[in-house]
Amino acid sequence: MVLAMQRSQSRPYFIALALAGMAASLASLGGCDPSDETRAGQPIPATARGERPFRHVLIISVDGLRPDALEPPFLASLPSFARLLRGPHTLDARTDADITVTLPNHTGMLTGRPFDGPNGHGWKLNDDPPGRAQGGTLHAMKGAYVSSVFDVAHDAGLSTSITAGKTKFWLFEQSYGPSHGAPDPLPPDHGRAKIDFFTYARETEGIARVVADRLRDAAARRIGTLDFVHFAAPDAAGHAHDWILAPDSRYFSALLEVDAALGTMLAAIDTTPGLAMRTAIVLTTDHGGGAPAKTHTDVMSPLNFRIPLLVWEGGDGESRDLYEFHQDRARPTRETRVARDANPQPLRNTDAGNLALELLGLPAIPGSTRGLTVVPIGTPVPAVSASPDKSLVPAP
Ligand SMILES: [Zn+2]
Repeated sequence: MVLAMQRSQSRPYFIALALAGMAASLASLGGCDPSDETRAGQPIPATARGERPFRHVLIISVDGLRPDALEPPFLASLPSFARLLRGPHTLDARTDADITVTLPNHTGMLTGRPFDGPNGHGWKLNDDPPGRAQGGTLHAMKGAYVSSVFDVAHDAGLSTSITAGKTKFWLFEQSYGPSHGAPDPLPPDHGRAKIDFFTYARETEGIARVVADRLRDAAARRIGTLDFVHFAAPDAAGHAHDWILAPDSRYFSALLEVDAALGTMLAAIDTTPGLAMRTAIVLTTDHGGGAPAKTHTDVMSPLNFRIPLLVWEGGDGESRDLYEFHQDRARPTRETRVARDANPQPLRNTDAGNLALELLGLPAIPGSTRGLTVVPIGTPVPAVSASPDKSLVPAP
């Protein structure tokens, strides 16, 4: 079953050019993309502050993904995951320090905030959210507007979407829909609805097809995109049969299913002009699993809090340590839980949104944290193109 909701049909053509550092200076360009020529060689990690942002970025969450599934011998059966590991990555990232369940951790990924503490997003509920009128938005819970990765991308002129395998992600549609998303502070006005498409799909391959079609369509129309993709199958298998990593386990068979779905999306990227080498992926998870058995609620267990975080920048890049590009962070030993206020911080799934924006050449989410640093609220996101460039509308 696929439930799709579509709001806006078109976005201005845009190009973002990050000139230097996290300040991400932006420039509008008229008719050509200078990165077309320079992109021909090996991709350079944007995490190394590259000057060539991507036009399409996917944030993929594989719900309940154990990091050791991405190591030998299991990796040999997961060719798409193996390909995504050819880029900066770590298997020693961390979940939120204080909670290892689904919706609070995904809220962290998309807002860049921890769950708890003065700068926390504060959303603890892990079921379908109550209605908007009953307080079912992140802003009502926080008592203040909570910006997301969608705010920054959409205000800059990108098309945005969620394709998810759980209905509880409707929380984000409720929080960032036309009635509760923040006004776009700078012209042109891209509206208050920060998420253009919301799709709930139960089947793993169905999710991949929705995303692949969306990417092909955006490339044909020369629209930049920021998409969040969620695969639920490994978590469902873990809850039903436990997080057992073995070639014949139900959990591993769910990972094989996700690997095939990733393959579908990668094939679309590889074979579509405008997507190949212009599309980057940030992949992580909300938690591991297995502590206690068949769940992932024990925040003190490495089975739950130790997670992968990877950045794929197209082609077949070099496998690198993501920590190399984040000198303000420190890799914990495999068994170490790191408190929210520890200094330095590890890389966390909370970094996913800002990594995606960095790849797009956009500034970080207002109010988010990078390690222990809080990104100031109040700096509007400049749109990257003042108006659609008619000369770039594809021929019919
Ligand atoms: Zn989960």
